[in-house]
Amino acid sequence: MRVKTGQRVRIFNGTDGEWLATIQAITKRHVTVRLETKIRRPAPEPQVTLLLAPIKRTPFDYVIQKAVELGVARIIPVLTERTIVARVNLERLTANAIEAAEQSDRLTVPEIAAPAALGTAVRGLAAGTSVIFCDEAGDAAPLAQALSKMPGGPMAILTGPEGGFSPQERAMLRGQTFVIPVSLGPRILRADTAALAALAVWQSTHGDWK
Ligand code: SAH
Repeated sequence: MRVKTGQRVRIFNGTDGEWLATIQAITKRHVTVRLETKIRRPAPEPQVTLLLAPIKRTPFDYVIQKAVELGVARIIPVLTERTIVARVNLERLTANAIEAAEQSDRLTVPEIAAPAALGTAVRGLAAGTSVIFCDEAGDAAPLAQALSKMPGGPMAILTGPEGGFSPQERAMLRGQTFVIPVSLGPRILRADTAALAALAVWQSTHGDWK
């Protein structure tokens, strides 16, 4: 950013809310600001985690940006048997997430976790988290119907890679009591479409409304 000392900025985080501030000093590595007026109080945000298999760079960057706009709290790239993308550039994804958070007027920047194996990620979720398993197998209940029956509490949405989930992964997932398989409709969606469609439906029923 090409800011100068004396310039007014808006600065925010999830614990202190959003403040008008003035730039006091700028060095290569630090910017000092003077906080002046609180313009927004911190507000609790719904805890939805997106577990998604990394996909090719451009659609992956896109889905991260849209997930931030749709209110995701945390994103965990999950490595599945058919994931073809081996490396995830966390620095770039985090920069994308910060930019999307600023643009969408959020007060928090979602955490982008380091990639984890599917089983590790699912078992590592906070106790009481329900996992919405977007299963392309097609025999599951529609997402909105599943959501209407779900208690409150932390939630995770899981989508697979371009090649889908393997039969072994499907069996492991469906064997967990806290995993709810859902359908996103009769057509096969691209991985990025699926993650956004699921988040949009979640936002419309369990999202945070002013
Ligand atoms: N190649 C696979 C499709 C993978 S789509 C095949 O042809 O069967 C990538 C991911 O998007 C899937 O793993 C799933 O998580 C999600 N997805 C796509 N379409 C879906 C649908 N109709 N219902 C639920 N999930 C879906």
